[in-house]
Amino acid sequence: MPATPEQPWSLPRIDRERCTGCANCAELCPVQAVAIVNGIAEIVRPEACTFCDRCERFCPEEAIGRPFVIRFASPAARGQ
Ligand code: SF4
Ligand code: SF4
Repeated sequence: MPATPEQPWSLPRIDRERCTGCANCAELCPVQAVAIVNGIAEIVRPEACTFCDRCERFCPEEAIGRPFVIRFASPAARGQ
């Protein structure tokens, strides 16, 4: 999913090709961080997002989701 450059990496990303504007995410977001704008979901209150993943879990199109990174512990941290 393409990232919006100004958006913090940890916020949910929205795939505008997949999103149908059904509003499940907007209705289920506990802090109104996501809303439907011009028929497509958009993160409108990024500062409010708690990364709870409700939008991701209940999107029927898998159009919204939180990115994640995998970090490997250093050998020192693993005791090697
Ligand atoms: S639940 Fe999914 S398809 Fe529906 S508006 Fe939100 S992102 Fe778009
Ligand atoms: S992760 Fe939770 S708080 Fe953030 S936009 Fe999705 S439903 Fe709202």
